[in-house]
Formats: sequence, C-alpha cells, structure tokens
Amino acid sequence: MKPTVFIPEPIASPGVELLRMYCHCRTPWEEGVTVPAEPDAAGAAPHRAAFRDADAALVRLFEVGAEDIRNAPRLKVIAKHGVGVDNIDCEAATSGGLPVVFTPGSNGRTVAEHAMALMLALSRQIYPSSHAIRSGTMEDRNRFQGVELAGKKLGLIGLGRIGSRVAGIASGGFGMKVRAYDPFLRPGSTTGAAVLEDSLEALLAGADFISLHVPLSDETHHLIDQERLKLMKPGCRLVNTSRGPVIDEAALAEALRDGRLAGAALDVFEEEPLPADHPLCRTPNTLLTPHISGLTDSALERAS
Ligand code: NAD
Repeated sequence: MKPTVFIPEPIASPGVELLRMYCHCRTPWEEGVTVPAEPDAAGAAPHRAAFRDADAALVRLFEVGAEDIRNAPRLKVIAKHGVGVDNIDCEAATSGGLPVVFTPGSNGRTVAEHAMALMLALSRQIYPSSHAIRSGTMEDRNRFQGVELAGKKLGLIGLGRIGSRVAGIASGGFGMKVRAYDPFLRPGSTTGAAVLEDSLEALLAGADFISLHVPLSDETHHLIDQERLKLMKPGCRLVNTSRGPVIDEAALAEALRDGRLAGAALDVFEEEPLPADHPLCRTPNTLLTPHISGLTDSALERAS
C-alpha cells in the first residue's frame, strides 16, 4: 500500500505530481477546503485527524505541536515547504525520532527581492503617494519627497541565505553601504558585500535602514524591543520579512507614532492574519503586506 502524505495547504503542482508517483496525497485544498493553521481554530478537528493518520506531512504555516506528533503513530517525516520551521515543534519531533526537513534557499531570491521592494517603497513613499492620488488629496507633491538608497547604511540582522542576497542586491545594485550582525558566523566567514559589526547595538546605532533576516527562536523573540528601538538612529526605516514576533509590535507602534522612526515595512506579524483593528494599521509611515515575501511562481515551484 502506498504511504499517505497529508498536505494541508496548497503547493505547486510539480511537487504533488512527483509525490503521487509513490504516495497517496491528501490535499483538502484541491477540493476547495481551506485548512486553518491553528489547532484550536473552528473547523480544525478533521484536519488534525488527517495529520494523525498520515505517514508524512508536508506543511507551510500549518502548526504542528507536540500533541499532534505524539498522536501520529505512523508519521515518519515532517516536511516544511519553505524556510522557518518555527510552526513545527522540532524538539518534540526529534525526541520522537522524526526528521523535520525543509527547503533552504528555495525562496531566498524572492524574499530578498521583496525586502528590497519594501525598502524602495518606504524610501520613495510609494504607498502614501499612490493613496493620495486615489483619494483625491494630492494637493502638494512636495510632501512626498523621498531619499535615495545610494550611499545609505543598511543594517542587516542575520546574514544567512536571505540576508546575504539582500546584501548583494543592496550593495551591487543600489550602492548602499551594508553592515551586518550575525553572532553565529565564524571569524573568517565569507560575508560578501557586508561588513560585520561586533554588536547589535553598534549596528542599530549606525543604520539608515534595518532589515531583519533571522529565524524565530527563544533568542530572537522580541529581539527588536523598546530599548533597541531607542538605539536606532532618528529617522531610521525598518523592514521585517523574517517573522512577526522578532519585533515587539506595541513598542514599534509607539516609535512610529512618536516619529522616531521614519517608517516601517512589515510582511510578518505576531498574529496572522493581522486584525484590521490592530494599532499598526493606524500608525504613520507604515507599509504592510500579508506574509507574501516568499510568494512568487518561481519560489513556490522550487519549494514544492
Ligand atoms: P538562514 O538560516 O540561512 O539565515 C538565518 C541567519 O540568522 C543565520 O546566518 C543565523 O546565524 C542568523 N541568526 C540566528 N540568530 C541570530 C541572532 N540572534 N542575531 C543575528 N543573527 C542571527 O535562513 P534564511 O533562509 O536566510 O531565512 C531567514 C528567515 O526568514 C527564516 O528563518 C524565516 O523565518 C524567514 N522567512 C520568511 C519568509 C516570508 O515569507 N516572510 C520566507 C522565507 C523565510
């Protein structure tokens, strides 16, 4: 009998076609069913049961907790479509002898391009100026004067696959001076276009733009908090395409309201989808995208 692979969220067809040669694939989305990522969401129960019956699971944002793993006796492997395995309890998987695999690099270029798009949009006020035209409030174009990226200091937090790509594009394509903070890089590691800073504090104090590219872990939870926001240069612009909880959103909203930061562009949030009444939906100079950094046809095909 073919093993069963549970794939709760849509993936591109090359991956499903390959799996179907060897496995039975359970793909609720092909029947028009949207599977909630959280185990306690309304309607989640049948999908949790499907997970428990599977030989393998291939997930995107679907949360896999210790209880799911404990109650899935046939499970042999959990695959993450993409990067950032924070939605999977890797400790529980490891203690159960289950490998967790992922697709490093599959969406690196795509996420790096989105980080640059957010940086450009902030620097040239693309969203508020477009909004002003559409809403008939475009009296004075001078209020949308921008800043050039060339010559500005970009501070990258995390210089892995995505951070390195951003460094290359920002330096080679836009003439930015790139600094990076990554305490896990060994002395002598290749850092390409980026110059390493010894401390996060030094990076924060010197940057005109900051872009986050770290995994979410206990160490990076609220890495950018009230104190660290205060260390940033007045007028700094912050971009986050990593994971929402890396930033203390309440503290960020305050820094944006105070005008200490010139802007923030966020693709990821502490709660997703971001509720429409969230304070960040009302803060000035804030650009929001709904976790789409990795969503291009090429990246989705590679990850599948
Ligand atoms: P990676 O593992 O190649 O790089 C992460 C880097 O962060 C590593 O070099 C690591 O040493 C560094 N790091 C870890 N802890 C740090 C800390 N406390 N301070 C500074 N640096 C630290 O991963 P990647 O492929 O570059 O992806 C980075 C993250 O981007 C993923 O973990 C994921 O959460 C996120 N991501 C988001 C999307 C999206 O759609 N928004 C898509 C892909 C990845």
